[in-house]
Amino acid sequence: MTRSEIPFFPPDLFEHDRKVMLDVIQDIGRDPRQKFILGEHTRDFEEMLRDDLGAGDVVACGSGTAALGLVLRAMDIGPGDEVVVPAFGCAPLAASVVEVGATPVFADIDPRTLVLDPASARRHITHRTKALMPAHMFSIMADMPRFTELAASHDLRLIEDSAVAQGAVLNGTPAGLWGEAGVYSFVQVKSFGMPGEGGAVVTRDPALGRRLRMLRNHGQQERFVHQAVGTNSRFDEIQAAFQRYRYAGFPARLERRAEIAEHYTERFAPLAEHGLVAPPPGRNGRCHYVYNVLAEERDVLREYLAEHGIGSHVYYPLALPYQAAFLPYAPADERWPNAEHASARVLALPIYPHLTDAEVARIADAVREFVRHRPRAAAPGVPAS
Ligand SMILES: *Cc1c(COP(=O)(O)O)cnc(C)c1O
Repeated sequence: MTRSEIPFFPPDLFEHDRKVMLDVIQDIGRDPRQKFILGEHTRDFEEMLRDDLGAGDVVACGSGTAALGLVLRAMDIGPGDEVVVPAFGCAPLAASVVEVGATPVFADIDPRTLVLDPASARRHITHRTKALMPAHMFSIMADMPRFTELAASHDLRLIEDSAVAQGAVLNGTPAGLWGEAGVYSFVQVKSFGMPGEGGAVVTRDPALGRRLRMLRNHGQQERFVHQAVGTNSRFDEIQAAFQRYRYAGFPARLERRAEIAEHYTERFAPLAEHGLVAPPPGRNGRCHYVYNVLAEERDVLREYLAEHGIGSHVYYPLALPYQAAFLPYAPADERWPNAEHASARVLALPIYPHLTDAEVARIADAVREFVRHRPRAAAPGVPAS
C-alpha cells in the first residue's frame, strides 16, 4: 500500500483563494490610479485589524522583522542601550536590536513553555537596559502579566514580539496589545500568512502609531519633508486586498489549529515518562503556530516520521547566543541551559488547518508507535517502557 505524504509545509495553502488573488491582481492592475503601495487597500486592511483588536493603531509594513526594527527606532533605542531578548527563538529577535546599534542581552527560557523566563530576564537587567522584548513562541504566549510588572518596576519599554501569535488572547487581552507595541508577520508560514512578505505593528498608542507611519516611509509625513531618518517598509496593495478578503476565514483556521493541537496533546500525554513531552494543554494564551514536542531522541524520531511519509521541522537547532552571528553579544562565560536543552529536543509536527482528521490521527499514531518501540534507557525513577 502506498501512503500519501504529509508535508510539513503544505504547498496548497492558497489553493481555495487563488481566484480571489487573480481577481485582485486584475482589479488593482487595471485601476487607472495605478496605486500599488500604501493606498486605500492598505488603509482598509489596517483599519480592519485595528477595529477588530480594539487597538489605537495598526501600521502595516514590509515584514515582521521590519516591524520590530520600526518599533525600536520609534522608541529611540540605539547605541549604548541594551534590550533583553530570549536566547531561544528566531534571528530577528537579536538582529533587529543589533541593526539599530543597540545590544541584545540573552536571557534563558522556561524549559517547558519555551518562552522567555521572567526570572532570567530580571537577572539580565542592568543600568543600560532600555527595553524587554519577550516573544511568543510556537504555540504559547510569553508570560505578559509578569513582563508588564517587570517593565513597570524597572521603568523599561515593553516590546512584544507577537509575530507568530496573531489571534491569540491571554487573560482577555489579545497578543500584540500587551506591550507598548506588538508586531505581526504575514509571511507565508505564519498563521495569517500570505503569498509574499509583510508585517504590521500594533499599538494602543496613536502617537506611537503616527511616528511609525512616518518612519516606514522614509521619515516623511509630507512628500520630501523628512522629520526623522526613516526607512522603506511599505505595504503592498494587492496583498492588502487579498488579506482583507482572507481575514473572514482566519478564526476558523485558528480554531482548527487549536483542535489539532488538542488532539496531539491528549494522545501524547502518556508519553511524557517515556521521553516525549507535549506542550501543556489549555486554550488561554495559545497561538498554535507551530506544534513543538520535546523528544529525547529527536533526530531518530524525525527520521522515523520521514520513513512513514510525515514531514517535520526543527525550530530551532541552535540557540541564538551560540550562533556565529551573535557570538559578539554572548558573554563567553555564560550558558543558557534551557535554550540548549530545547534546541536538542524540539520537533515540530504538521498543524496546518486543512490537515484531515485521518492525517492528524496518522501523525499521532506514528509518534506513539515510535515511542512504544524504542524503549530508552530508564531515567532515574522512571521504568523503561
Ligand atoms: C517570523 C518571525 C519574525 C519575523 O517575521 P518576518 O515577517 O519573517 O520578518 C519575528 N519574530 C518571530 C518570533 C517570528 O517567528
